[in-house]
Amino acid sequence: MNIQTTPKSQIDAEVLIVGTGFSGLGLAVILEREGTRDYLMLERGHDVGGTWRDNHYPGAGCDVFSHLYSYSFRPNPYWSSTYSKQPEILKYLQETAEDEGIYPKVRFNTTVTRAEWIEAEDLWQVETTTGTYRARALVSATGHLSDLSLPDIEGLDSFTGKMMHSSQWDHDYDYSGKRVGIIGTGASSIQITPEIAPDVSHLTVFQRTAPYIVPRRDAPYSEAQKGMFERFPEMLQDFRKELFWGNESRFPQRLQIPAFLAQIEEMSRGHLEAQVTDPALRDKLTPPYSVGCKRILISNDYYPALQRENVTLETTGIARIDETGVTLTDGSHVELDMLILATGFEATELPIAEVIHGKVGRLSDQWEDGGQAYACTSVHGYPNFFMMLGPNTGLGAGSMIYMVETQIEYIRGALQYLAESGKVIEPDAEAQEAYVKSIHDRAERTVWIAGGCQSWYLHPRSGKLTAIWPDYMSQFRKENGTFATEGYMVRDATVSA
Ligand code: NAP
Repeated sequence: MNIQTTPKSQIDAEVLIVGTGFSGLGLAVILEREGTRDYLMLERGHDVGGTWRDNHYPGAGCDVFSHLYSYSFRPNPYWSSTYSKQPEILKYLQETAEDEGIYPKVRFNTTVTRAEWIEAEDLWQVETTTGTYRARALVSATGHLSDLSLPDIEGLDSFTGKMMHSSQWDHDYDYSGKRVGIIGTGASSIQITPEIAPDVSHLTVFQRTAPYIVPRRDAPYSEAQKGMFERFPEMLQDFRKELFWGNESRFPQRLQIPAFLAQIEEMSRGHLEAQVTDPALRDKLTPPYSVGCKRILISNDYYPALQRENVTLETTGIARIDETGVTLTDGSHVELDMLILATGFEATELPIAEVIHGKVGRLSDQWEDGGQAYACTSVHGYPNFFMMLGPNTGLGAGSMIYMVETQIEYIRGALQYLAESGKVIEPDAEAQEAYVKSIHDRAERTVWIAGGCQSWYLHPRSGKLTAIWPDYMSQFRKENGTFATEGYMVRDATVSA
């Protein structure tokens, strides 16, 4: 039978990719190098880079090794140190887009307002702020950490001083000599706090839950090391492998295997004891849950910053915010000129799911109890749709770039299959259910479920672990790294004039 799909003239591209952060950009590089797929990218921002474009607060950086937090297919011998700061990572992504010829494929300042599967024509119709796009396949690459989360605190809007979320830093505002408050003590806050503390008149750090912190073993790479990595690429690949397996060997901590747990507990307790001498402050900084339940942070300068004369760690709860500052649950009031909200992101209920409409309706309605996807990538009822960094793709320890590259290979394979076969695919409901069950069965034994903390890794209504992959990274690749039609419903694409 000669199957004819929607004529090329009626579509803008074979594939539409939403988002140009690490995941979308990586997929584009592979498609561009392959040279056989016709794709376009939609980006709501003015440049590529995703979270690394948006998060430029003072001290912003990555706590994953630079040589792992970069594409294996685009290694960078010149990383300046063990861990990179935001400007260097953004530059890496911008240079990738430039060198690989991605920029002309991106429609910038273009926000997706609705993406709808048109069953009669077997295509995705994507409405955006700059026009409508039609494509055979849709890839969402909008990330976990792209939409900020504001704290649900009474009176937040009434504050008349300067208020900003960590991901929307206003560098025109001069905080020096000001009374500053920061809500949250996660990865963003512990980088901002030591950076701004020396310049402000007073800094109040509002802590709800103490994080575990371990030493940051950072060091610059010498010119000689960079030269060796440049001259011997295989040496760089070996180094990446060593870093990868080092991370992988830490997963048993997340399974709460006593010997592994004791090791990391000792490391963080030792760090706290070495850096904080006051027992009362140490108590406040001791987390009330098992290590690893929330992200383990790395810092050498956060605890010292908290012990500065002009810094207060406030552990009394916040009752409300008013025009001039923060009222605590004990009735006391903290007067502020500036309030920083380092309160994280909408990672559990991905905002992009609200605008994606498939055969069975809106994706966010399907995901009332948390995201679920077959192979962590495709969803029943949403044909020819692929999600990068969707349900159960986050990590507790390791590099997200490894997860991204695994999904790139899976989606590349699926797109090749669609193009060569002229078929439409979507996961079978039963296959998806069985797959998601296998994830949740594995999650039960992990610290994220059993560790006694509330984190953004858990879905707020169902309590299920929907953000994190509850197994080894290498297992993710084994299960989800190669596309196969098994588990999918496959049919011929619509015949059209
Ligand atoms: P986060 O880890 O979600 O931390 C948010 C903080 O805000 C927590 O301390 C939370 O307290 C607090 N908070 C939220 N709502 C609150 C409320 N209503 N009242 C009081 N406190 C409240 O956010 P993040 O620090 O921006 O980090 C998000 C993710 O970004 C990280 O997990 C990491 O994956 C990534 N990140 C990585 C790096 C890095 O590589 N170094 C840097 C920044 C961000 P509770 O703990 O009590 O909920």
